[in-house]
This record gives sequence, structure tokens and C-alpha cells, in this order.
Amino acid sequence: MDGLPEIAFLGRSNVGKSSLINSLLQRKGLAKASNTPGRTQSINFFLINETFYFVDLPGYGYAKVSKATRADWGRIAEDYLLNRRELALSVQLIDSRHAPTGLDRELFDWLGFNGKDRIVAATKADKLSNNQLLKQLRDAKEVFSGTDVVACSVQTGKGREELWQHIEMGIKKKSKFWLIPAKE
Ligand code: GDP
Repeated sequence: MDGLPEIAFLGRSNVGKSSLINSLLQRKGLAKASNTPGRTQSINFFLINETFYFVDLPGYGYAKVSKATRADWGRIAEDYLLNRRELALSVQLIDSRHAPTGLDRELFDWLGFNGKDRIVAATKADKLSNNQLLKQLRDAKEVFSGTDVVACSVQTGKGREELWQHIEMGIKKKSKFWLIPAKE
């Protein structure tokens, strides 16, 4: 591994994760070099501008998958999230139209408990009226307290720059740590 900082994206299946990653990468001057598959079973790494990675973790909580598959998600994603030194920030996606699920809450609390920097992106914001969106955001901010909840839409581009600000901050923070040599 090259030690570059990594930004992880996680959320329920169908929450809009691939769409959001693609939308973020539409920014001018960004080059997605490679999807480097095969490094792990089901985690996709996208090298961006040769300076950091977007890490697409498998979606969780899909009702139809078997318990064994769910356990697999747990093993692969948990192992990554807990042990990855390069992890700079987790972007947890929720659907802005729905109340957070039990799994959303569990994951959020678990990341916090393990001292992981995280922000919440509420996807598909264009599907709600302004009033509905405000209400959903208020509720989400209560559930995910202490963390920014960014309303996003790939249709309108809403939230894209705000998310990038968080991502850039996460990368900078990580890079600073990186300059300090580890104590033997
Ligand atoms: P993933 O399974 O989490 O990667 O979800 P996808 O990115 O494949 O999106 C699931 C569905 O939601 C697709 O039909 C997308 O077109 C739709 N979708 C994703 N983001 C948005 C959004 O911001 N607005 C709207 N209206 N639809 C979206």
C-alpha cells in the first residue's frame, strides 16, 4: 500500500452511494486513475489525482441477503474501518426521505465509539420539498448528534461542495499526522 489517505463511503444498499461518488468526481480537475479491484474481495478503491483514495464499502442491510452474507459484510467492512491506518474520514450515507434505520444508528454509534471521524450525507434531497427536507434534517441531526448532516442531491448538485470541504479537511488532518514519524 502507498499510505495515501482514504475516504470511505458506507450506507445501505440503494442509498445512492455509487451516484454520490460519481457526482463528487465530476469536479473539474479531478482524475480518477483506477479502480483497483482485487485488493480485497468487495471493497473498491478509486485513486484520485494520485493523492488520495475514495473507498466504496459494500452496501449493508439489504433485506434479501442471507445472514451469512450480512456476517460477511460485517467482517469485511468492520475489519477495514477498524484497522485501516489510512482511513481519514467515513462518509455515512442515509436516505433523506426516510428515518434512519436501526443499522444506520448502530453503524454511526459504532464508528463514534471507535473514535472514527465521520460525517453523514443525506441523499436524494431533490425528492423532498424544502419543508420536508428541513424536517428530515432536523430529525437526522438529533439522531446523529455531534456530526454534520449534509443534504445531497446528484440531480441538483446540492451538498457537493460542502461534502468536498469535509473531505479535504479529513485529508489534510490525516496528512498532518502522516508527517509525524511513528514512535518505535
Ligand atoms: P447504491 O446502491 O447505494 O450505490 O445506489 P445507486 O447510486 O445505484 O442509486 C440507487 C438509485 O437511487 C438509482 O436509481 C439512482 O438513480 C437513484 N439516486 C441516487 N442518488 C439520487 C439523487 O440524488 N436523486 C435522485 N432523485 N435519485 C438518486
